[in-house]
Amino acid sequence: MKRKILISACLLGENCRYDGATKTNQSILDTFENDVIIPFCPEAPVLGTPRERISIVLIDKQYKLISDETQKDVTGLIIEQVDLAVKSHPNLDMIVLKSKSPSCGLGTTPILNEDRSILKYADGIAAARLKEKYPNTKIISELDL
Ligand code: SF4
Repeated sequence: MKRKILISACLLGENCRYDGATKTNQSILDTFENDVIIPFCPEAPVLGTPRERISIVLIDKQYKLISDETQKDVTGLIIEQVDLAVKSHPNLDMIVLKSKSPSCGLGTTPILNEDRSILKYADGIAAARLKEKYPNTKIISELDL
């Protein structure tokens, strides 16, 4: 039976990044060519493309996804997109996520303080939610391949 792999859509060639660009990763396409690939982008469906950049900001000891210019809190919108993916695909064999993204990054996403300086690097908001929802599924970054 083919494995089911959820992959950040920008790594698959979708133009879903904030600036309308993609981050196609040929080695991912080759590695998983015989698997069932499920493209996943939690930002594009709710924020559109192109869109304002967003960042994780530590506010009142909580991680919030805030848009860089208009300061809109989009945390709930992104978490909702993860939960929709979980509902549609309750069983996955692996998850592969784009590094450094405020949504998809795995330990590589800058966490800012309220003055917008970098406090540390941690998981993106969607990555953290995916870890919580798929405790038994292997989750890696494209940098791990
Ligand atoms: S890193 Fe994640 S949220 Fe950003 S464009 Fe790629 S799939 Fe979408």
